[in-house]
Amino acid sequence: MRCIVKGEVPEAFAQWKARNSAKSDWSSFSKPQSQSYVIYQKLRHSLISEQKHQCCYCEVVLKKEGDAHVEHLKDQGHHPDERFNFSNLLASCQYRDSCGHKKGNGFFKEMVSPLDENCQARFTYTARGKIIPLDEGDSFVQKTIDLLGLNCKRLIDRRLSIIRNLAPVEREYLLQALDNCVEWGWGFYTVIEYMIAKRKQSF
Ligand SMILES: [Zn+2]
Repeated sequence: MRCIVKGEVPEAFAQWKARNSAKSDWSSFSKPQSQSYVIYQKLRHSLISEQKHQCCYCEVVLKKEGDAHVEHLKDQGHHPDERFNFSNLLASCQYRDSCGHKKGNGFFKEMVSPLDENCQARFTYTARGKIIPLDEGDSFVQKTIDLLGLNCKRLIDRRLSIIRNLAPVEREYLLQALDNCVEWGWGFYTVIEYMIAKRKQSF
């Protein structure tokens, strides 16, 4: 899980919010047939950019806008006041077996969030592509992994293939892969960082 630094509230969203948020619900705001859909699209675009085109939880590449939906970190069911709060909004992938769609209303107070500055340091990977808590007694990390489906077979397989591809390469290539992980269509920035850290340890 890569840390996300939130930027400014997009202007169009701020303006729409000032006029409409009190009387709007999320589904009418984000419906493709609604007048506000263009605002929703701009919002999603800003979120994808601030996340450097990777899913907020699993880090798959968000190639085109439709690869993502706007995700409420604190779910709307239990946190209606957070519905239009930009600092609660993220861009999540559309897979059903992980991330925002899998999480649904399952947010819990101690959940590790990509908005926590130290989130990345609480996870690591295995050589088989699983994501695990760095400290194995950190039950909130494990609960977060389970809630978000971060060890579904699809994600383990993707990570494993990156780990295998990068295992024999020169360090220089690893650094290039890190810089270009989105352009190359790989994503999984923190998996590549893990490979770089492992390489350092072996010297
Ligand atoms: Zn995802």
